[in-house]
Amino acid sequence: SDHHHQPHFILIPWMAQGHFIPMIDIARLLSLHHVMVTVITTPGNTDRISATISRLPVRFTTLSFPSAAAGLPDGCENLDSVPSRDLARNFYNAAKLLRHPLEHHLRTTSPPPSCIIGGVGFPWLHSIAKELDVPRLVFQGFSCFSLLCNHNLNSYKTHETVSSPSETFVLPGLPGDHCIQMTKPQLPRFFDKSSKFQDIYRELQDGENSADGIVVNSFEELEPGYAESLAMATCKKVWTVGPVSLSSEEKLDVAERGNKAYVSEEDCVQWLDSKPTASVIYVSFGSMGRLAAEQVVELGLGLEATKRDFVWVVRGGEKSAEVEEWLAGEFEERNEGRCLLIRGWAPQVMILGHRAVGGFVTHCGWNSTLEGVAAGVPLVTWPLGADQFFNEKLVVDVLGVGVSVGAKASMEGGEMKGSTNGGEIVRREMVVEAVERLMGVGEEGRRRRERAMEFGEKARRALKKGGSSHLNLVLLVDFVLDHDVKRNKKMHG
Ligand code: UDP
Repeated sequence: SDHHHQPHFILIPWMAQGHFIPMIDIARLLSLHHVMVTVITTPGNTDRISATISRLPVRFTTLSFPSAAAGLPDGCENLDSVPSRDLARNFYNAAKLLRHPLEHHLRTTSPPPSCIIGGVGFPWLHSIAKELDVPRLVFQGFSCFSLLCNHNLNSYKTHETVSSPSETFVLPGLPGDHCIQMTKPQLPRFFDKSSKFQDIYRELQDGENSADGIVVNSFEELEPGYAESLAMATCKKVWTVGPVSLSSEEKLDVAERGNKAYVSEEDCVQWLDSKPTASVIYVSFGSMGRLAAEQVVELGLGLEATKRDFVWVVRGGEKSAEVEEWLAGEFEERNEGRCLLIRGWAPQVMILGHRAVGGFVTHCGWNSTLEGVAAGVPLVTWPLGADQFFNEKLVVDVLGVGVSVGAKASMEGGEMKGSTNGGEIVRREMVVEAVERLMGVGEEGRRRRERAMEFGEKARRALKKGGSSHLNLVLLVDFVLDHDVKRNKKMHG
């Protein structure tokens, strides 16, 4: 009977770590609500989290990913291993080749799906969801704030009224009395009419517009007003269910094939254990951020000049051999005991949760931003592109939990490769100043650190029973159950 009916959620994460990781956490959260959960992905992506998935009460189905057929290197099944930006289109096309096998699977799987939550890169899920008469929700991996900014700029076209790259405009249609200003070079490439990816952006936009609702990794107390405004502006249901990184004590274990971190998780904890509370800076630019060689060196010198201890995740970019030589040579020698360099995958959520960490220099990817906030760690914001400049505004201007390093422009803008400072690199003094303002003795830093702690507390409450995110997940499951009941009635007269 309907009373005992268990809805079947199908999750199809977009294959980029910033989308994949939170969706695995969402799968875990859903599984706590007496529903059946299946994640559909590719073998390479399950491999990387194999240590975790055996312990998740979630079914995994893999479909082989046609890397070679799409002109990608063998084994390239995630955007973080696409060798160059020029191959991004190939990756998107490869994902399109999943359409038929995936549709076949959804038609034949048992029990039949009750709801499809699709990642950002699968706009074509729309038609199969219609055919099966199940709600299709999207998970874009962004904040309500940046989703709302995107939506409003698309409607009002405010950015088109400015002519010079340095001219600021006010973000239109935001709730509250915040007057938030941006410049054109800080916008996602989506807004660049001349971008050669415009056709893809339009497809993705159509996919979002046709969805039945939006699942967001955020929580109501963090973005008050923004979730409601987003729901009103898009005429869609919005469920904030995060921070999903708090879904379990047990952190997701992501291995990086062929690129094992030099530092084990145990060594990392041991190093942090030896440091005073809230003294260490953690520095990372996410799973895909690559700085220019010159910028890496300047950042290193900046960190050194703060005279604080730091954990720095360095990912190989251009001239990585030269950079590595510099790092492994004089730099590590000079900073021995004071710095922990991680080449490869860092256990980020664990690091941010350690009491020794007192500040996070971040590229403001939404997951990283939220993981910092959830851990009560204040941020030094250094956006590189995509939605990250929006997140910086939220963190610095709205929430007051961070200090900006002063990056002027997205590095997707075609200026000096790997630069975010309007054609120049972010200088070491800028790094020192931002870190000092955030972690030093001044009043501003004290206030921002305090607010970060408060949001960390609120984040934990949101996920607990009775908290806003917990409640939203219950409502989401109810919404799907309701739809199941209605469909069954239709089918059985
Ligand atoms: N991440 C990690 N270790 C790394 C790099 C990234 O654990 O060395 C995780 C990070 O915790 C976050 C995700 O990968 O969950 C990155 O997502 P985000 O939105 O911050 O940035 P993106 O990589 O999408 O730019």
